[in-house]
Amino acid sequence: MTTLTFDSLNPATGEIVGSHPKHTPDAVHEVVGRAEEAARWWAAIGPDERKRRLLDYKAIITQNLKDLARLVHEETGKPVGDATLEIVLAITHLDWAARNAYKVLRRRRVSTGMIGLNLAATLEYLPLGVVGVIGPWNYPAFTPMGSIAYALAAGNAVVFKPSEFTPGTGVRLAELFAVAVPEQPVFQTVTGLGETGAALAGDPRVKKVAFTGSTATAKRVMAACAENLTPIVAECGGKDAFIVDADADLAKAADACLWGAMSNAGQTCAGVERVYVVEEVYESFMRELSDRVTKVKAGENYGPITMPGQVDIIKRHIDDAAKSGKVVAGGPGSVRAPYVDPVIVEDVPEDSPAVREETFGPTITVRRTRDAQEALELANASAYGLGGTVFSRNARRAMQLARAMRTGMTAINSVISFAGVPALPFGGVGDSGFGRIHGADGLREFTRPKAISRQR
Ligand code: NAP
Repeated sequence: MTTLTFDSLNPATGEIVGSHPKHTPDAVHEVVGRAEEAARWWAAIGPDERKRRLLDYKAIITQNLKDLARLVHEETGKPVGDATLEIVLAITHLDWAARNAYKVLRRRRVSTGMIGLNLAATLEYLPLGVVGVIGPWNYPAFTPMGSIAYALAAGNAVVFKPSEFTPGTGVRLAELFAVAVPEQPVFQTVTGLGETGAALAGDPRVKKVAFTGSTATAKRVMAACAENLTPIVAECGGKDAFIVDADADLAKAADACLWGAMSNAGQTCAGVERVYVVEEVYESFMRELSDRVTKVKAGENYGPITMPGQVDIIKRHIDDAAKSGKVVAGGPGSVRAPYVDPVIVEDVPEDSPAVREETFGPTITVRRTRDAQEALELANASAYGLGGTVFSRNARRAMQLARAMRTGMTAINSVISFAGVPALPFGGVGDSGFGRIHGADGLREFTRPKAISRQR
């Protein structure tokens, strides 16, 4: 069946972390077949038993937190503390999905409002069957768990294809699930590269695909799904904007901006990549930012770039920005593969790749704007629309700007805070994808609504 293997490497040291089978399309289809049977069993045991098992799973992950964090650290290179935080966030989502699934999805009466017709109606959200999850390498535990926990809690079986750079984390998550649910293979993984993801997406028994990755790959996943009209949730990249208004707390804004841009070496889909600052406070904000950035260093505050090919993209953007703009921190010399030190560049033309394309590295471009309205217009001029940030002490204006941002999520006076809140739906618009994970919307995403009307 699966004869060949591939290795995952520690990006910081080049050492082999683990060896994993390359699932051929035939092997993927076998796994999906087993998942189909497990899905029927998992749906039949009912919401109370599912909740109990998912909370057992949460307890088992918690017991294994240290080992799991070490594995995430080895596969991604990120510091153990960041890896631990990532798993704590994954656990938070798992807990919320387990506890809220029944409340959100159960059968309820619906008022029909049909004058003259004595109609009664009910609505409930039923499991789909087998859900395929294709996850990225930047948060190999947290990001896929944002789909896996919700799909499982909604009564589906899951087949997870982890990134080829971080397969061990995915495999370990499924092994720990099997301790809580040993009866049936409700949560399985398929590992591989080149053909594994497409085989999963193209299997007609997979009823939904949750994909997290680049916009270009999302289009290929959709093509693989098109044959069977399999719907997908696409969580793609971003080019998130950070707006600093005239009355912002500049010290807090600078802290948040740097953390949002540099944590995880900038390898965060909702990381800060473009900064727009209103003229009145531009110089003061830049002083705050410049003071802080001197204390941030790759290899100390954050880890290496996990995927080797990403370094070339980051380098191209830094070179381009340095040529057309004014370097405030770092520059082309910041790239010491696999590490990249922080880079801040001012006045980069809005049509240059460093401003338009996702960089996925510890780099930001900063621009002075006439006022908050111009900052908003520039923020919204991106093809992406995942997250964004507004810093302002004026609560009313901050809310107006946040609502007008063309994004799925916006944080006010904090950064990326929406991602950790399980009750909030996560997802974007435009090139950032469609559909939602997390929260009640994330649970419903992995169900089919069933409507019944009855003449009384
Ligand atoms: P990627 O290169 O876009 O996707 C790689 C994955 O897609 C692999 O598992 C691959 O498996 C699979 N794949 C490729 N072609 C496929 C096809 N035709 N059908 C089905 N699957 C296919 O993504 P990445 O490099 O891992 O992730 C980085 C990107 O993810 C960044 O752009 C980042 O912004 C984004 N991201 C978004 C979010 C979010 O929530 N919005 C979160 C984290 C990351 P095979 O090789 O087996 O085909």
